[in-house]
Amino acid sequence: MVRDYSLKPAEVPLFDPEVLTAKKREALRTRIKRQLAEKNAVLIAHYYVDGDVQDLAEETGGCVSDSLEMARYGRDHDAETLIVAGVRFMGETAKILSPEKRVFMPTLEAECSLDIGCPPDEFEAFCRDNPDRTVVVYANTSARVKALADWVVTSSVGLAIVEHLDARGEKILWAPDKHLGAYIAEKTGADMLLWSGACIVHEEFKFQALADMQRIYPDAGVLVHPESSARVIEMADAVGSTTQILKAASELPNDTFIVATDRGLFHKLRRAEPNKTFIEAPTAGDGATCRSCAHCPWMAMNELETLALALENGTGEVFIDPEIGKRAMVPLQRMLDFPR
Ligand code: SF4
Repeated sequence: MVRDYSLKPAEVPLFDPEVLTAKKREALRTRIKRQLAEKNAVLIAHYYVDGDVQDLAEETGGCVSDSLEMARYGRDHDAETLIVAGVRFMGETAKILSPEKRVFMPTLEAECSLDIGCPPDEFEAFCRDNPDRTVVVYANTSARVKALADWVVTSSVGLAIVEHLDARGEKILWAPDKHLGAYIAEKTGADMLLWSGACIVHEEFKFQALADMQRIYPDAGVLVHPESSARVIEMADAVGSTTQILKAASELPNDTFIVATDRGLFHKLRRAEPNKTFIEAPTAGDGATCRSCAHCPWMAMNELETLALALENGTGEVFIDPEIGKRAMVPLQRMLDFPR
């Protein structure tokens, strides 16, 4: 029996970025562009970070994407230096896949509740206790946890990879997100033993408040990230990763969508579909703790000022023990090679 590794509200930091004047924003953007050019560096940003950082990534020839594409993009780009705007496991993944490149992040304090909730020593004991199972870990884990795995998956490819393993008759040990694990187990019918971590952002979406919101917007489509609870997932018209949510928003006929994922994605959703309306799924209602209020406090640390200072001071470099890196590369490479 695995203990509950979800973080308590008091364990989640509050992060409230400064609201910048137009003049300060422009000055920071100029400093960042200069630094990227001087360092021959490419900026790779996640959909959940500050919209200004996302725009800069695109304007300077970098990319904005989900964690799977971020990993692939950094590996394939010819820049000597990768600047990863996201949370720490994303910087670590970039370094594992490109050990010859220097990888920096705006801040190494940008954590993830799933990564924190999967301590490597305890996870190793769990694997030891279940030697007959194929170990599949979500990308939101440390390099040490990845090094213990047979497969790494993201929310874009987790379902397809588990389906493939189940078809080969393999029993699975899954970590760390219990909601995503339960969703995949239910969809595939695979035999999955679940670790018990959770994303503090997606776990806060509330079923009852969402049902109330649907009564207000009866024609709205509901788009849900599978790190949300099963009851919220059940209400979705489309369930998927950030990239899959973007695709559903473009393909479904609705003009309005209620979206249960980090509000950072709304920047891209509104750019991609300017004639559609996107509403945040509620994190209030019965039992609400609303610590993140639909925005990851660690992703929020990736803002212009932090990024400019890290580039100028050369801070936030990611280092991985080369032995751990080599071991973690194997399950990561399996994911990247998996036909999509
Ligand atoms: S949104 Fe959730 S899964 Fe993503 S980095 Fe933040 S805590 Fe981790």
